[in-house]
Amino acid sequence: MNLTCPNCKKEVKPDDVKWFGQEAREAAVFCCPACHALAELIYQRGKVELSRLLMMLMEGVRVSLAEGRLQLPESPNGEPSKKQVLEAILNMKDWIDARKALNKTTEK
Ligand SMILES: [Zn+2]
Repeated sequence: MNLTCPNCKKEVKPDDVKWFGQEAREAAVFCCPACHALAELIYQRGKVELSRLLMMLMEGVRVSLAEGRLQLPESPNGEPSKKQVLEAILNMKDWIDARKALNKTTEK
């Protein structure tokens, strides 16, 4: 009996069924080979982008610390919220991007 891919709704022969998400805590989901290739592509590209963001975070914290600009907004219970931390990271990213753009113009 053929199964139906939950993503593209096409029929999948039992021999062609692929599974995605075995590494995650939740149960893996089956799909057709084409949707599996798409899922892998998005997941692998996302992993690359996330590791770039991690490197950028390290650089942002390092430079901000060295220049005496590292800080979080005041929060009532002393512990910054996830939103405040993410905003601080995005501000660092904006600042790093602006600095890179400035470096490019001064190099010319
Ligand atoms: Zn599919």
